[in-house]
Amino acid sequence: MSEVRTRSSPAPAEPDPLARALLRWFDREERPLPWRRDRSPYRVWVAEVLLQQTRVAQAIPYYERFVREFPTVRALAAAPRDRVLKAWQGAGYYARARHLHAAARLVVRRYAGRIPGSVEELERLPGVGPYIARAIASLAFDVPEVALEANGLRVAARWTRESRRPDGPAARRRLEGALRAHLPLGSAGRFNEALMELGETVCLPSAPDCARCPVTRWCRAFRELDDPGSIPPPRRRPARPHHRAAVVVLHRRGRWLVQRRPLEELLGGLWEFPGGRIERGETPEAAARRELAEETGLRAGPLTPRGVVRHAYSHFTVELHVFEGPVAGSARRPLGPYRRWVRPDEIETLPLPKATEKIVARLAAGRASPD
Ligand code: SF4
Repeated sequence: MSEVRTRSSPAPAEPDPLARALLRWFDREERPLPWRRDRSPYRVWVAEVLLQQTRVAQAIPYYERFVREFPTVRALAAAPRDRVLKAWQGAGYYARARHLHAAARLVVRRYAGRIPGSVEELERLPGVGPYIARAIASLAFDVPEVALEANGLRVAARWTRESRRPDGPAARRRLEGALRAHLPLGSAGRFNEALMELGETVCLPSAPDCARCPVTRWCRAFRELDDPGSIPPPRRRPARPHHRAAVVVLHRRGRWLVQRRPLEELLGGLWEFPGGRIERGETPEAAARRELAEETGLRAGPLTPRGVVRHAYSHFTVELHVFEGPVAGSARRPLGPYRRWVRPDEIETLPLPKATEKIVARLAAGRASPD
């Protein structure tokens, strides 16, 4: 039997031997994941957006919560942004939720609530890139398109013994071309999904379980290398920067001051306490007072240290030196639309970054220890 073809050609009408072996394996081994119960375009879309940067096991509760809260594209489009971000809270990469929300509104406005099925139209929606467009088109509409995310790229790179990182544009084009030659008409979505499943459960990043693999005979990495897991070459990851910041839990008449992060920034649209970076040579308390004044124009009375909260985000780590104290003066200054005084129980209804959630939990538990 021939190995994976490496030149682009039209999809065959009948599944070729590789596709047949892969699809038969998938029929047997497919995991019963919640987004496989309902293949509507909207649910495929939500799942694919979540799965872009979240592992399957972690994504399940977020997916279920999100589609319970917003069961249709119309329900999502009609929701206020804070509710959407709150439903996404904890899943991270909040731009995904903001784009999904904006795209849902566009689908309702432009397509009367029907998600389009063509890759070109899908790619015009906010946050929908080439992979998600092809995943929706193939999984929900069976458009004959190859959809390669990280798992599929890794498997395809091993089949074809691709020597470069498969996420680079040239390698990706080569891999898509090679797979297109095997894409079965009428089962393109299932083929794409089987490929991802193989990458998630068998063809694992550093230790592929080739003994369980249904397609060893077409895999060049298996046939030609001592260690098929050496493909793809490892990515060089830059060290995560570490930030030190000071935060003020400013209170007035039993309420705390919170503010919303600018939409275009990291964690955009989430609510947090005022604060910011501790400059070199500055004490945490001095930084807390300076940041409060710079951001809000308000001053604090005596500040009490409430300990240090640490959190590791995907791209950086942070330590937040937390202070609590009353506002000084009358605080009549207009707050603007991005700041609010909220009751301690009210803050939990707002979408919060993980580090702010930790501060709130610490304040609620009253087990703050001065640092
Ligand atoms: Fe991956 Fe091994 Fe299967 Fe090749 S044979 S696709 S390396 S699991």
